[in-house]
Amino acid sequence: LLDHRPISRTTTTTCGYCGVGCTLDVHVRDEGIAAVTPHRTAPVNRGHACVKGRFAHGFTDAADRLTEPLVRRHGRLERATWAEALDLISHRNARIRERHGPDAFALISSARATNEENYLAQKFARAALGTNSVDNCSRLCHAPSAAGLTAAFGLAGGTNSLDDLDRADCILLAGANPTEAHPVVGARIKQRVLHGARLVVVDPRRTELAGLADVHVRCKPGSNVAVFHALAHVLLREGLVDEEFLRERASGRAELAALLHDYAPDLVSAVCDVPARELLSAARLFGHSRRPAIVYGLGVTEHAHGTDGVRALANLAILRGSVGEPGCCGILPLRGQNNVQGASDMGALPDLLPGYQAVADPAVRDRTARIWRHPVPAEPGRRIPQMFDAAISGRLRALHVIGEDICQSDPDTAHVREALRSCEFVVCHDLFLSRTAQHADVVLPAASFLEKEGTFVNFDRRFQRVRPALNPPGEAIDDFQILHRIAGALGTDLGCPTPSAALDECASIAPLFAGVSHERLDREGPLHWPCRAPGEPGEPMLYLDGFATRSGRAELAAVPYRPPGDATDDEYPMTLVTGRRLEHYNTGSMTRRTPDLRLLPEETLDVHPEDAARLGLSDGAAVRVTSRWGAAVLSARTTRAVRPGEVFAAFHFPEAEINALTSSHTDDVTGCPEFKVTAVDLRPAARP
Ligand code: SF4
Repeated sequence: LLDHRPISRTTTTTCGYCGVGCTLDVHVRDEGIAAVTPHRTAPVNRGHACVKGRFAHGFTDAADRLTEPLVRRHGRLERATWAEALDLISHRNARIRERHGPDAFALISSARATNEENYLAQKFARAALGTNSVDNCSRLCHAPSAAGLTAAFGLAGGTNSLDDLDRADCILLAGANPTEAHPVVGARIKQRVLHGARLVVVDPRRTELAGLADVHVRCKPGSNVAVFHALAHVLLREGLVDEEFLRERASGRAELAALLHDYAPDLVSAVCDVPARELLSAARLFGHSRRPAIVYGLGVTEHAHGTDGVRALANLAILRGSVGEPGCCGILPLRGQNNVQGASDMGALPDLLPGYQAVADPAVRDRTARIWRHPVPAEPGRRIPQMFDAAISGRLRALHVIGEDICQSDPDTAHVREALRSCEFVVCHDLFLSRTAQHADVVLPAASFLEKEGTFVNFDRRFQRVRPALNPPGEAIDDFQILHRIAGALGTDLGCPTPSAALDECASIAPLFAGVSHERLDREGPLHWPCRAPGEPGEPMLYLDGFATRSGRAELAAVPYRPPGDATDDEYPMTLVTGRRLEHYNTGSMTRRTPDLRLLPEETLDVHPEDAARLGLSDGAAVRVTSRWGAAVLSARTTRAVRPGEVFAAFHFPEAEINALTSSHTDDVTGCPEFKVTAVDLRPAARP
């Protein structure tokens, strides 16, 4: 701030942290970042940005940034030239393909990478490796949103834009702590509350917004479906539904009404550990509002029945007629990472090609193959958890990981490590030598979001431009070029030589994005999908002309409540909930390398004071946490933000090993892990 030397250039780009997608101005001096400021007129952030967007850029010139390829020789990763690294990849891939065929390959793409990189990654997997086994980390977070919202309404995204929150008179915020995980949205919600909107929060933790809520439904982790059904029961019983909407535009009312018979608040109260009167108050607030909005996060999806949770929440929007109607506020999933929506939009999924077109559909495959001039494999591929199982059983031999530290971010770390050790050949692209990259045979130095060209799609389906403010260090290049180089070494020409050409090709394959291009985004600014033609403006609000389901109607879901996959017992009597904290981002590889963010230097285990007293734990005391899957030692932090019998921790610090504890239970529809419910035991421990 005290450096008054002139700025050499300013680049307008999109934040690479959370899925809100704030537009930032990056000011560069001496080829380093002098400052980052929020873009004043950006439609998403309107001149705001959080601590991560503004200050967490110290990682770009961190001393341990990867600047050249590494290859494993005699068991150690050693420096290599690009030619040596590509030669090794080509040689080892050819051998594995010859012995085991294309099913022996899998690729994990990246929700941090651009759309164009994700598009190219799935094309690389399908056209160069010959497999549909390509997936991205939405499998770990919002795959249930894609499945649940598609089943309810027809498309795999939120129904409305963030701007629609500005007219909501009641917000139902479920399983989300946007103050910390999506701060600019958290601030927008707070503003609405200050302007008189009512707020209902469904969350086991007392978050900042829960403290502002009219009703905080502080339910037991894993009981969402029962809670949402109790609210729906009251809406139906007390006539707080939109009868005309249900008659004209929705299906499944009779089946849902029959199911909800058993979900009266006084019956559900014991299941979710919430007094019946609070469920009743929440339902009445939501039911009497004129423009209700639903905003939800991973506390709804990361469960063994996460898709059921999304369907039960969508039921509430349908019962109130608050989707697909002029002036409605809809239902908004708070997508986690900067481009987790885009990674799925681009087809980095084992069963879907770009634009959510089924790979099993021969017409879609043929059309794609004609444009690619490469065949598209017919058999849907493996999801991330299936990749790990297949590696351990010897059916998967080669894993390619783009920018994901699966050893830290995925559940049941021991299982992930075993899968990596079981693979014959592992390739990683990354900014740093992550724990996953340490298992690799080839590590390729990648560019960060501040060093690349392309687009991201944010949580409300907005395509936004990403522009390079800096050059990548040393020999690092972006994932787009890395994929081209590897494909070239394997003898496959992927076409689309630039990110702009890749988005054009995607637009020619996927009708949902047919009107989107770099040229148009540069000229007009962000565009919401669907945007089906170059002259169309995009659709911030979906379904005004009908739902995209097969019936053309919104589908209510009569899904019964089922208990979580993991359950407490005498051996593991407490429940661990995992999540995120304001100062850091996911595996923390970028935020932990930013000196300004060392405000939070280590992870803690949040413990209720009653539990801490019972266990003899004081603030800062070491506590050993064990689950059926592993163990970790953390520092205790007493707080009433968690309920008695429950503890909370984030996974930002590798040494905390939080995901050594989390379970292998997954959502039965999508395979999304049950991060929000793990039965654990706590014991005072000695410092390691
Ligand atoms: Fe970046 Fe999200 Fe913060 Fe906006 S709210 S600045 S997108 S981390």
